[in-house]
Amino acid sequence: MSILTVTMNPSVDIAYQLSTFKLDDVNRVSNVNKSAGGKGLNVTRVLKEIDEDLTATGLVGGDLGNYIKSQLDQGAIHHDFYQIKGNTRNCIAILHEGLQTEILESGPTISDVEGEAFKNHFESLLKDAEVVSISGSTPSGLATDYYVELIMIANAKEVPVVLDTSGESLRQVLLSGHKPKVIKPNVDELSQLLGRELDKDLNLLKEALQDSLFNGVEWVIVSLGSEGAFAKHNDLYYKVDIPTIDIVNPVGSGDSTVAGIVSGITRNYDDVALLKHANVLGMLNAQEEITGHVNLNHYEALFNKIQVRGV
Ligand code: ATP
Repeated sequence: MSILTVTMNPSVDIAYQLSTFKLDDVNRVSNVNKSAGGKGLNVTRVLKEIDEDLTATGLVGGDLGNYIKSQLDQGAIHHDFYQIKGNTRNCIAILHEGLQTEILESGPTISDVEGEAFKNHFESLLKDAEVVSISGSTPSGLATDYYVELIMIANAKEVPVVLDTSGESLRQVLLSGHKPKVIKPNVDELSQLLGRELDKDLNLLKEALQDSLFNGVEWVIVSLGSEGAFAKHNDLYYKVDIPTIDIVNPVGSGDSTVAGIVSGITRNYDDVALLKHANVLGMLNAQEEITGHVNLNHYEALFNKIQVRGV
């Protein structure tokens, strides 16, 4: 049995390093880094690095889709994507003067036939799955309740789902009768969902997680960046306090946290161990330049500095 990660709108991410970014002029770049991206693939890479057994699935198409598969092959990551007619997208990050300017293609439009076919493909992969992790937005062409349908299929086979998405896709799931086991919004996503501005105030967070929108979702884990996390597990509430660390690149830390949650579930960790495991991985990602990469040499030292307290 293994973990199934789902990335419906992957990308080939390009990072350009420029000392200065000149608008309305030619920018020449020699330092280029291309990688298989998309939130679900970040989760996938971290799961591989912590030695979890997994299969990556989702939709890929065209040359960039092939590039993604070849990158996964190179990393010895098992994958079984559904092939679409459209072309997988590029996302570009320009790193300049300490800033990050991003150009994100929206990606291919998925046809109804492809959407239906993926559901069958997903269902067939569930037979070997112990936990499913679904990350990122739904691609254009698919209905905003598409994740509701995937969760319905997984729940019917009693395979729990960890869902990390936002906006309308997340709202549709929470309003539906088909609940994931875990969601992991950050504070901005939680604020957007509830339609009110939330910060890191623990009383406000606790009150927010009592909203009926979360009924039936076993775990709500709100990641708080440098402040750790606030979590609800059924009727128990926890604050995860983390030490101050030097940050290199926090992009993808949320995805790394999701990898920790998924792995904690498969390892049957108790609440405290699961929350520490998830936060250590988020922090380790923030300490690396590469998104979706962790250096496990620092795992234990960080783990021992994290405090989980009931609130
Ligand atoms: P992303 O969308 O970039 O993946 P996110 O907003 O979903 O990120 P964050 O809350 O920023 O997720 O980070 C997830 C976890 O990573 C945090 O709960 C924390 O454990 C760790 N982390 C992130 N940023 C920092 C930081 N600056 N210092 C220490 N730990 C951090």
